[in-house]
Amino acid sequence: MKIYLNKTCDLSEIKHNLDAHNVFFDIHEIDEKLVLFIDDLDFQRVNKIINAEFIEDIMPIYDLKLTLRLHHPEDTIIKVKNCQIGGNKKVVIAGPCAVEDENTMRLIGQKAKKCGVNVLRGGAFKPRTNPYSFQGLYEHGLSILKNIGDEFDLPIISEITDIDYLDKFIECVDIIQVGARNMQNFALLEKLGKVNKPILLKRGFNNTIEELLCSAEYIMKNGNEQVILCERGIRTPLSYTRSTLDLSSVAILKEVTHLPVIVDPSHGTGKRKLILPMSKASFSVGADGVLLEAHISPNKAMSDSEQTISFEEVEKIIKSI
Ligand code: PEP
Ligand code: MN
Repeated sequence: MKIYLNKTCDLSEIKHNLDAHNVFFDIHEIDEKLVLFIDDLDFQRVNKIINAEFIEDIMPIYDLKLTLRLHHPEDTIIKVKNCQIGGNKKVVIAGPCAVEDENTMRLIGQKAKKCGVNVLRGGAFKPRTNPYSFQGLYEHGLSILKNIGDEFDLPIISEITDIDYLDKFIECVDIIQVGARNMQNFALLEKLGKVNKPILLKRGFNNTIEELLCSAEYIMKNGNEQVILCERGIRTPLSYTRSTLDLSSVAILKEVTHLPVIVDPSHGTGKRKLILPMSKASFSVGADGVLLEAHISPNKAMSDSEQTISFEEVEKIIKSI
């Protein structure tokens, strides 16, 4: 947890109380403010140990050595082909939910290139809730993506669901995506930590921001520091939208971590008409990019068509940046 102390705090009293309760802590001065880091997320316990009058603000973040901005003040910039993710550039990643066939993917690649998309997406291994839904083209889907990426000189991103296919991913894609359902598949994360490719890590729909950062730390701790975080919405009690797109997490993540943060308004809302406004909102809270489900014939997309937009719509988003 990160605790901003106010100017009138009694530091020796705070240190004494933390020591007396055997709490490990670290104190840093950030932007002329005293910030206390403790590996404890229990607010009530902390409130008992530290005099509330000394506390200006509390942020529930563990002191993670690799992901936090505290230990790495500059933005991490990730380069794939001719594209930069993070820093002062904004990126648009777009493409279909699933790779359907080579011809369709070629037409999509062509449109994507023409309207200025930076990275082409396409799911080859689809984690579907219903086991009878289209599951993707598996390795053949990855080969198609590689061909189209080469043809239009576009970096490719696709989701890995099983480490057994890692070699094929390494051969065919430029960024490996870890989907919401695998955010805490620690064995998978550790293996991806040994890979020399950027990893886009999606937030699980039931996971906190701290848990997302812990998962990023798993990858980084194993040696791969090229991690991109992705907010894709959290479980919602509402029925109109598929998820609640938590844009407050983007503002928080941009403050506490140096890693690039991307927003996926497609899975985050499940609604085609919300993609443009939520993309604009994402950029205004500091997102480094958006990940969009787009298709040449959105209504005919084999999966997630209700949230899939046309490339005319993608172009509007690119122009709005
Ligand atoms: C996807 O991007 O194709 C996907 C399945 O998203 P999520 O993991 O966020 O549900
Ligand atoms: Mn989808």
